[in-house]
Amino acid sequence: MPLVTTTEMFKKAYEGGYAVGAFNVNNMEIVQGITEACQEQKAPVVLQVSKGARAYANHTYLVKMVEAAVQECPDVPIALHLDHGPDFETCKSCIDGGFTSVMIDCSSKPFDENVEITKKVVEYAHAHGVVVEAELGTLAGVEDDVKVSAEDSSYTRPEEVEEFVSRTGCDSLAIAIGTSHGAYKFTPEQCTRNEQGILVPPPLRFDVLEEVSKRLPGFPIVLHGSSSVPQEFVDIINAHGGKMPDAIGIPEEELRQAAKLSVCKINIDSDIRLAITATIREYFDEHPDHFDPRQYLKPARQAVKDMVTHKLIHVLGCNGKA
Ligand SMILES: [Zn+2]
Repeated sequence: MPLVTTTEMFKKAYEGGYAVGAFNVNNMEIVQGITEACQEQKAPVVLQVSKGARAYANHTYLVKMVEAAVQECPDVPIALHLDHGPDFETCKSCIDGGFTSVMIDCSSKPFDENVEITKKVVEYAHAHGVVVEAELGTLAGVEDDVKVSAEDSSYTRPEEVEEFVSRTGCDSLAIAIGTSHGAYKFTPEQCTRNEQGILVPPPLRFDVLEEVSKRLPGFPIVLHGSSSVPQEFVDIINAHGGKMPDAIGIPEEELRQAAKLSVCKINIDSDIRLAITATIREYFDEHPDHFDPRQYLKPARQAVKDMVTHKLIHVLGCNGKA
């Protein structure tokens, strides 16, 4: 099947009590690792591209790699999505350039300005058969080159969501309920420690999610910054010359819970980076004489595939839903 929008996959996800994974792609091995897992698990998927990915790999290469994945994975609905579109021009360029979904992120702007720019993107996108994700509330953390401190982040205000969605006509809404971008989602001071001394992050604000869902029945909600930062990857990285103290993510049980509610799209990026880096660091340590990139990129790609397979089955619940 050709690239699809997220309309049908979100509708089925909402009704089925699961979420679709939105994984960031930057190179061939990442595209292959994700889509091979989705093909095997018969899972719909959103492949998303950030501004940083376009700067790194170039728009055309990314689109062509995703088109190759579409051809190789005939049983899987795949949407190609712009992650964190900063302005109308970037969204327009992706809409014109073959994307089926874009995010316009004006969440750091005042409410009326966010409405105005989002509405403009929605009008252009809908006229071209493309869907739009918007955002209300601000996540903490680091996304590409944008850094938001925990003090400047703010939860979504449920009392604003109906007006925002009706005025903009957006198709899905990213909200802030305590997830965060990057591999250092929380400082040790924000966390407690369990009996083993492992950091436990503050719980997600399910009360905010429930209030938003009550006000927007049937409307798909998106969670950004939802990597779990698996400790086994952090441990491998630290054991092989890396230095990632206190890297911490969102517990998978909480994401599973959100997926059962109105959350239809869960964004995962850092866990891909960690899987690749852990695998390559370990490989270099064990094979100091190897120098063929295929030797270490092959297990790195497999690590992405294994990690994504785990998420599809145990976190998102979207396996078998293609
Ligand atoms: Zn994000």
